[in-house]
Amino acid sequence: MKEMDVFCKIVNGEIPCYKLFEDNDVLAFLDISQVTKGHALVIPKVHYDNFLSVPHDIMHKVMDVAQRIGQVDIKILGAKGVNILTNCYEAAGQSVNHFHVHVIPRYAEGEGFAIEMKAGDAENINLPAIASTIKSELK
Ligand code: AMP
Repeated sequence: MKEMDVFCKIVNGEIPCYKLFEDNDVLAFLDISQVTKGHALVIPKVHYDNFLSVPHDIMHKVMDVAQRIGQVDIKILGAKGVNILTNCYEAAGQSVNHFHVHVIPRYAEGEGFAIEMKAGDAENINLPAIASTIKSELK
């Protein structure tokens, strides 16, 4: 049998957390690593591996709570900005295999972490071909 992930254990009450919000479908709690003060995670109670496999209705419920926490970060915690992000698969930095959305308040430039998007090799990428491939799958 597959071992239960740490977030399923939190949902089941086997591991403690600093709970921020809970309803029938969604749980939000403080991330143990606190990249910045108030760094929160929002998860569905039912297990889905990541954002790419979660059903729409559950995704919307999770994102709704993430939005509300981000609003609190600005309004109450005094954050100047918020990063809302979710990693899908190990190659993109996902370390816990249970869909979760990070809500990371940002207080000062350079604090916490940086998302650096380096320009890639656009000259050697066939943009019409890649656009056409993705577009046809979205129909
Ligand atoms: P990711 O790398 O996107 O999969 O993020 C997983 C996050 O889960 C990390 O930021 C960890 O700090 C956090 N985390 C892991 N275990 C716990 C835990 N027991 N309670 C709260 N956060 C946790």
